[in-house]
Amino acid sequence: MAATPERASATPRRKAGRHRGEGQWAAGHFTPLNGNEQTKKDDDGLNVRTRIETIYAHRGFDSIDGADLRGRMRWWGLYTQRKPGIDGGKTAILEPEELDDEYFMMRVRVDGGRLTTEQLRVVGEVSEEFARGTADITDRQNIQYHWIRVEDVPEIWRRLEAVGLSTTEACGDTPRVIIGSPVAGIAEDEIIDGTSAIDEIHRRYIGSKEFSNLPRKFKTAVSGSPVLDVVHEINDIAFVGVRHPEHGPGFDLWVGGGLSTNPKIGVRLGAWVPLEEVPDVWAGVASIFRDYGYRRLRTRARLKFLVADWGPAKFRQVLEDEYLRRPLIDGPAPEQPVQRWRDHVGVHRQQDGRYYVGFAPRVGRVDGTTLTKIANLAEAHGSGRLTTTVEQKMIVLDVTEDQVESLVAGLEALDLQVKPSPFRRGTMACTGIEFCKLAIVETKGRGSSLIDELERRLPEFDEPITINLNGCPNACARIQVADIGLKGQLVMDDNGRQVEGYQVHLGGALGLEPGFGRKVRGLKVTAAELPDYVERLLSRFQEEREDGER
Ligand code: SF4
Repeated sequence: MAATPERASATPRRKAGRHRGEGQWAAGHFTPLNGNEQTKKDDDGLNVRTRIETIYAHRGFDSIDGADLRGRMRWWGLYTQRKPGIDGGKTAILEPEELDDEYFMMRVRVDGGRLTTEQLRVVGEVSEEFARGTADITDRQNIQYHWIRVEDVPEIWRRLEAVGLSTTEACGDTPRVIIGSPVAGIAEDEIIDGTSAIDEIHRRYIGSKEFSNLPRKFKTAVSGSPVLDVVHEINDIAFVGVRHPEHGPGFDLWVGGGLSTNPKIGVRLGAWVPLEEVPDVWAGVASIFRDYGYRRLRTRARLKFLVADWGPAKFRQVLEDEYLRRPLIDGPAPEQPVQRWRDHVGVHRQQDGRYYVGFAPRVGRVDGTTLTKIANLAEAHGSGRLTTTVEQKMIVLDVTEDQVESLVAGLEALDLQVKPSPFRRGTMACTGIEFCKLAIVETKGRGSSLIDELERRLPEFDEPITINLNGCPNACARIQVADIGLKGQLVMDDNGRQVEGYQVHLGGALGLEPGFGRKVRGLKVTAAELPDYVERLLSRFQEEREDGER
């Protein structure tokens, strides 16, 4: 872990001379410097809801204003999905409107990954009725639908909101879902339960115009688990459970992590934050991002660029002096986790003597009927709640010992494995070409068949391993921090034909010794060669590894 940073010697001045050209509001740059900023200035993204309810849902897809369609609808979790049948070679060539289908992807935010069985049943019903049965678990604990018609959006909101779920700021330049430990408040080894802080941040700030025009997305993670189960290293802001030698359990504050282009591991500010102060500190950091964040270029508009330029000491000083108006308490770094799996799959005892049961669907792909069956199964075994994980897995909570065996059997009968192979457990895939307009290659189906192939070919392999598939150079499935990261692109096959394939990145990790995988120069595999390549790689690793080598 990084050492506690040195304190800055002087308060930075508001006139950030070097960055006058970055479009920072704090430097007086309120004139929009690109189309996205202009759209946000013209009308707040949150305002589009009224137009959806009163105009677009009645008059249909063709009535939607262009800036709403490709901009503001994201503030309510809606993106147009990719028109079927357009191959990956056309992704970069076609205009956005040529790729747009008249159906939407809709993201339901599930803060902390927490769902009651009642909520899960409604999520399943909406999927069946309005989303052709689709319902993927994302790697940020959300649920994602496809095939949504704008005409159905108000009714979907009504049903979700009736059970306390929403799509508010699930996408867009906003505070996205707050990810949280999926075993908060129940894990035997927990340092601190961050649930009340997540709820309070949500109550105060989600859907508030205070933070509905940020330079870009703002990702938050909160966990008091020593397993470090929320990928805190790659969030814009993260609160990580630690025990302070004098003050007791609280959170270590991290800022400026993120993947995509220019990936960065977040940095510690060396500050310890008590549970009740987390929402204020969160608002301080979000305010710095809003006011000082770069708005000129979309490619430099994430918080990580400001943090990299300022450094942790100056960032902390601005937070204390200009936003909190008090010093933060210095604190220790989190301990290194002792285990590599952070997904809570399997059967584990809770603090109260009951059990939680984590299970693995394939690459996050479930469907509405299955979600309804999971809700029924959990209830039949005495549980009223579940969680989603950042590894596209799920957990049934609060199961008494006498119900565990029957629940495990019921889940496995739905192909939801509680004791999965390392391949089922460690493989993740983004949305890919099936629905994503930026995709170049297919991911979900290929990830699923790769699991089958590896289980058949390497039945004895029992190391923790992560295999992450992306459909394009973005980082939705976190390829840079996987043991084997596969970045979708078009490659040449042996006959000189352009086919779907992947650039290979090896050796990335989060948790124990976090770092980015290395792009293996020139190593690209076609989709058809993928199982052979991964099999060769893992067999060689098994044969040649030294003691303890990962
Ligand atoms: Fe789409 Fe690319 Fe993200 Fe995959 S990584 S969901 S293809 S943008």
